[in-house]
Amino acid sequence: MTSLDFKTLIAPENYNLANEIDKHFSEKRALIWENELGEHESISYSVLIKKANKFANGLTKLGLKKGDRVVVMTTRLIESYVIYLACLKAGIIISPSSELLKAKDLVYRLNHSEAKAIITYHRYVKEFENINESTPFLKFRIAFGQEVPNWLSMEEVMKEEPESFTTVETQKDDYAFLAYTSGTTGMPKGVVHSHGWGYAHLRIAAPKWLNISESDTVWATAAPGWQKWVWSPFLSILGSGATGYVYNGKFQPHKYLQILQDKKINVLCCTPTEYRMMAKLDDVSAFNLSHLHTAVSAGEALNREVIDVFKHHFAIQIRDGYGQTESTLLIANLNVDAEKIGSMGQPLLQEFIEIVDDNGQPIPVNQVGTIAVRKDFPALFKLYYKDSEKTNHAYRGDYFLTGDRASKDVNNYFWFQGRNDDVIISSGYTIGPFEVEDALMKHQSVKECAVVAAPDPIRGNIVKAFVVLKDGFSGTNDLIRELQQFVKSLTAPYKYPRIIQFVESLPKTDSGKIRRVDLRNSQR
Ligand code: ATP
Ligand code: MG
Repeated sequence: MTSLDFKTLIAPENYNLANEIDKHFSEKRALIWENELGEHESISYSVLIKKANKFANGLTKLGLKKGDRVVVMTTRLIESYVIYLACLKAGIIISPSSELLKAKDLVYRLNHSEAKAIITYHRYVKEFENINESTPFLKFRIAFGQEVPNWLSMEEVMKEEPESFTTVETQKDDYAFLAYTSGTTGMPKGVVHSHGWGYAHLRIAAPKWLNISESDTVWATAAPGWQKWVWSPFLSILGSGATGYVYNGKFQPHKYLQILQDKKINVLCCTPTEYRMMAKLDDVSAFNLSHLHTAVSAGEALNREVIDVFKHHFAIQIRDGYGQTESTLLIANLNVDAEKIGSMGQPLLQEFIEIVDDNGQPIPVNQVGTIAVRKDFPALFKLYYKDSEKTNHAYRGDYFLTGDRASKDVNNYFWFQGRNDDVIISSGYTIGPFEVEDALMKHQSVKECAVVAAPDPIRGNIVKAFVVLKDGFSGTNDLIRELQQFVKSLTAPYKYPRIIQFVESLPKTDSGKIRRVDLRNSQR
């Protein structure tokens, strides 16, 4: 794999990320939108940009200006794209907030970010109104979709405004986003990204990983509110001049496969959970995905089993990619290399990503350590907002430590072990939960699983698996023994789960990631 040249990833000094979308101004379709009820709509680049201009004018007239923070809580709607683009143009810093957030999460974000305004869909107004504490920095509450008493209407704010807007001058290091992490391990952290971050992200993820070309219809399923929405549905699609497909409905594996087939989707970006659920369908082979040329996965480790199913039925290899809210895509499978299936892939910038020890020193190949990003990586965050302690703590020597454990092989392919906190130490052995989960997932009865450490008086910890069974299987002692033998036959035998507990579901973050921390704590 040829590594990217980092010099091409550094933005010009005067740079506003909105220009990446503006340059595609044309009658071409930017977005095709649909919901569960079959309602649909589409919008061209020119109309989308004109709407964003009107809204940017309206926001500016209200008194919002460069550097102000705005909490944006929306869902998979065309307006989300209009709002984000308008804010970038006006130099306003967007704090993306998921539609699933509750009053207590929102008040934390509003006050921590000192947000001057909220922009939200009318259905989420109630959650903001449930806030009892004071929000001293907040001046404007803007809702769209329907009139809401005591709230400004986005439609009104933009109605009489001109369709052109001169994008506010920003420097590459000016802040563009204040994005909170998923909270998989603790309280979400406020990650600050600049306009220049977006420049680098776009040049890394869109052409290299997503393989997007202008003629593609691209479906990236992430919801607004997560950094992944900024990565793929927003920046990578609109920054490439492609057409984005937006489905505003619940995840249902059948429905998803139907859409992929009927909408002739060319590029798919979704989560391991979504791929897992599709792969576990009995009639997965009934669908024709011949238009799909690229399928990528990120957010959690992708199980080998899932890759195999897609390859078998659709002749497409799902390519796993690894990144964090704090950066961008760091390591990915850009090529289809049969021998390396199951690996996270290779660093996109070879000399910027390493495996290091606790002191931030690179360690030899095949040894497990922490994945680390060199400080001068062009798509690394600026800081954790108002938390210099956490920011400083994340750096060691020349590196930002990701908190994820992996090893790399002689070909510089990285192999994921688990998050630092998820790694299990049992009788002196270090066991990555992912490898055990991967083995369990291969068993026909297993729908989902999570592997954690359970305290043990002799071994310190033992490996425990929480397993969700597929319909039609029951959690008997025989099945426990069968699963244990099955894992022993696929991994080093000391890694097998000594305890297996069958559960109805697994605890997850709002973005769908398994919260092993909850399962671990439930053991104590
Ligand atoms: P928090 O930091 O608040 O606990 P989080 O780390 O889940 O939440 P994100 O920044 O959304 O928040 O997720 C990044 C993390 O997701 C990575 O550090 C890694 O643990 C995991 N991850 C992402 N992609 C992959 C992948 N391809 N394989 C394995 N793990 C992945
Ligand atoms: Mg994290």
